Amino acid sequence: MLLEKLTFPEVERLPKDVPVLIPFGSVEEHGPHLPLATDVYTIYRVAELAARRTPLLVAPPVYYGLCRSTSDHPGTISIRGETLRALVIDLLRAFRRQGFEIFLLVSGHAGGTHMAFILDAAEAFLAEDPRVRLAVASILDLLRDYALDLIETPGDSHAGEWETALIQYFYPELVKEVGEAEYPAFPKYLLVSNKRRFWPRGVWGNPQKADTEKGQRLAHRLAEGLESIIKSLKEFRG
Ligand SMILES: [Zn+2]
Repeated sequence: MLLEKLTFPEVERLPKDVPVLIPFGSVEEHGPHLPLATDVYTIYRVAELAARRTPLLVAPPVYYGLCRSTSDHPGTISIRGETLRALVIDLLRAFRRQGFEIFLLVSGHAGGTHMAFILDAAEAFLAEDPRVRLAVASILDLLRDYALDLIETPGDSHAGEWETALIQYFYPELVKEVGEAEYPAFPKYLLVSNKRRFWPRGVWGNPQKADTEKGQRLAHRLAEGLESIIKSLKEFRG
């Protein structure tokens, strides 16, 4: 169930051992063909599918995230790691205060720095309250573990095959004309301020390999992946 659609008496009646999934996204360029909130849409809809398979409380998503390599493109609105870290801790504390004890932080945006701040916040929260059970994953982790065989493009990562397929499935009306494959050409180890020069169209992978049916299969596999993480969380005794 989606928390944002419940009333307070409904929340009051929930068993406190229902896992709470907090979806994280980003507002960033996703090539010339996908919407800026792609990372929110994909993970929120996949979480909704998972909630049909297993008891799960899906929290309203956090739209903003930390974006590095896309920060030069129009429409990318990034927040600082410190802000994200503080927000994760505040949300976990607030849910904990309501009595919930099992948490799953899942991000549709898989940037390494973004994930590191979420993980660091989750570790700090666990140290604060060792009785809680926590899992952290990005959509890319789930894809690698549960759906890699469905993806044809090696190294497909951002606005390419899998992400385009998911948006074609969930929000077909939001997909514009799909262009050619592209990969960024950032110099290794070096930080560059003019990022767009090294990644003009902001695509990492091959969106030409995407289609709606693939999006549907990916979405259901990802939901199964979430279900299996929830199962391990419920069984886990630390
Ligand atoms: Zn994305």
